[in-house]
Amino acid sequence: MNNKGILTILSGFSGVGKGTIVKEIMAKYDNYALSVSATTRSPRPGEEDGTSYFFKSKEEFEEMINDNKLLEYANYVGNYYGTPREYVENKLNEGKDVILEIEIQGARQVKKLMPEAISVFVMPPDAKTLKDRLIGRGTESLEVINKRLSRAVTESEGIEEYDFILVNDDLSESVERLNSIIMSSHNHSYRNKEFIDSIREDVSVFSEGE
Ligand code: ADP
Ligand code: 5GP
Repeated sequence: MNNKGILTILSGFSGVGKGTIVKEIMAKYDNYALSVSATTRSPRPGEEDGTSYFFKSKEEFEEMINDNKLLEYANYVGNYYGTPREYVENKLNEGKDVILEIEIQGARQVKKLMPEAISVFVMPPDAKTLKDRLIGRGTESLEVINKRLSRAVTESEGIEEYDFILVNDDLSESVERLNSIIMSSHNHSYRNKEFIDSIREDVSVFSEGE
């Protein structure tokens, strides 16, 4: 079987619970690696540089773009966000299943570069729950919340571009469902071409010997 890790793109409306799901899946299973993004947005209380994000100035971020250090990047509500390339490539080669928690413009770039990546869009059980979670998190001003909600309207037009949707109602169920999506992707025939060919060849050698 192919030992390379699976790359999973996880997107969804701000406040839907992506970060929470990713934290839980990382704590529960040891086959995952979470890509830490670079951003120019300011840290929220409790967020640490190098763990939540690599917090960068605009100039530093633009240098990373110019040095081709990013797998993808995008502008989201006034700030740059991007995925450092090297970590993702190394972890996939080590056989880790890498999760990118990124928005839709970045998701499109990654799908183009790595079509074998799987993409999952996290949805709220209903719209009111989304607003309640965003307000309940208490990390943004009402003005930023409204900007993020209007961004959610634009993003909702791209949901069908994703391979799967994941409705985040009960947290532990969402974690289990995401894990099963990723685990079953390991068994895709297109991901295991070399293995299939080698077995096919061995079987045909057997049959010739009979
Ligand atoms: P995102 O990363 O998508 O912006 P967060 O993970 O920060 O969202 O979650 C937003 C808020 O919703 C947080 O306060 C989190 O605790 C809460 N939350 C996440 N998932 C659930 C869930 N399944 N049920 C109830 N609350 C949730
Ligand atoms: P937040 O400011 O809430 O942490 O993130 C805002 C949005 O940026 C979310 O939709 C999140 O998924 C997205 N995001 C985080 N990191 C990256 C990244 O590296 N690249 C892209 N394209 N989007 C990202």
